[in-house]
Amino acid sequence: MTSTTTGARGVESDGGATLRLDRAHVFHSWSAQASLAPMAIAGGRGCEVWDVEGRTYLDFSSQLVNINIGHGHPAVVAAIQEQAAVLPTISPAHANLARGRAAEAIVRHAPEGMSKVFFTNGGADANENAMRMARLHTGRDKVLSAYRSYHGNTGAAVVATGDWRRMPNEFARGHVHFFGPYLYRSDFWSTSAEQESERALAHLARVVESEGPGTIAAILLETVVGTGGVLVPPPGYLAGVRALCDAHGIMLILDEVMAGFGRTGSWFAFDQFDVRPDLVTFAKGVNSGYVPAGGVIISDEIAATFDERVFPGGLTYSGHPLAMAAIVATIEAMEEEKVVENAARVGTDLLAPGLAALAERHPVIGDVRGLGVFWALELVTDRATRTPVSAAAMGRLKAELLARNLLPFLANNRLHVVPPCVVTDDEVNRALAIVDEALTVIDQEVTA
Ligand code: PLP
Repeated sequence: MTSTTTGARGVESDGGATLRLDRAHVFHSWSAQASLAPMAIAGGRGCEVWDVEGRTYLDFSSQLVNINIGHGHPAVVAAIQEQAAVLPTISPAHANLARGRAAEAIVRHAPEGMSKVFFTNGGADANENAMRMARLHTGRDKVLSAYRSYHGNTGAAVVATGDWRRMPNEFARGHVHFFGPYLYRSDFWSTSAEQESERALAHLARVVESEGPGTIAAILLETVVGTGGVLVPPPGYLAGVRALCDAHGIMLILDEVMAGFGRTGSWFAFDQFDVRPDLVTFAKGVNSGYVPAGGVIISDEIAATFDERVFPGGLTYSGHPLAMAAIVATIEAMEEEKVVENAARVGTDLLAPGLAALAERHPVIGDVRGLGVFWALELVTDRATRTPVSAAAMGRLKAELLARNLLPFLANNRLHVVPPCVVTDDEVNRALAIVDEALTVIDQEVTA
């Protein structure tokens, strides 16, 4: 029997088949396989998911921080079904209405002067293609990016390719890293956000100078660093990076794969920092992952580079109609239901004060940071030394949260508080109460 994710609150009675088949045949990401015991999820609606036994969890992970519109949104599900009945797939070489409408809907929320979209299957290949565009546009090789960042899990495939498509893309060389701002664990001995911004910029300027500005195609940055810790850039930092790029003809690529499409309380996170990138990469929230999709929003200047010159990149499923229909329906539903506004309000009115109140009660919380529905609590054994809590303590925290029916997102010593953008006040209040209870257990263990 199959489950439904479209809202019928059906529970799979599968006699354990989900888990049995998974353990027998599914090879999981980023894991040693032998000891895995994944949750067997049967369905979801809004901010809730339920397992094959019918136990319901409040999803404060948004899975991999991608279900911005919530689980099983009926309009998005219907749009995918309708598109499947009309034309489920078509080569990217053809024009297709769903694809054109998806690109138009994305560009509607992009800055002036960015009117073209290249579609990919997800975030990693969006970044690959953005780097490729910047390199071909500038005729330079190097890409600078931050040590605390995640940009995806591809890279070798095109270099392993044997035919002509390899030659313009042999760019595995030329990656240089630098330290971005992170006041709580400053690499620059800063004691204020202003200092951190200024010093991180001075460091980046030194890296650019030392690498040779004329060799650098792009600086690639997550606007708000996501999995690396929900690091919101301090005032002036992104504008400073933009100025540095402008001074040296370097392209600024902002990775909005996790931060984009409402997560920070604006359509793009960079909207709140008054900076215009040359290339924007997106995925996840663009259609809440209902069908895999990602892409690059391209400045008109960079797009013009490829007016007469061949762009040496492509994917069989670039602009896949089912993903495109999901994008159109997701963006329209977000506009109509004011989902981005909800994320902003929840951040300001509930999560900011609610998480600050938790920090007052729980000594294990060393730092609270974030915006919109994109927050992290950094957990430490001692606020003075800022020593991260152990992996065992994080494991205990996860168990305490799950025991109270809250599905969390944990990374290193941090609890990321990242519900869908459609989260209600009641759901936030329930989650805060659960986190409060779970942290009481951890406090006692960690600081005892
Ligand atoms: N960029 C960022 C900021 C991400 O958070 C991720 C995934 O978590 C990626 C890129 C890679 O996206 P994907 O897993 O869709 O390839």
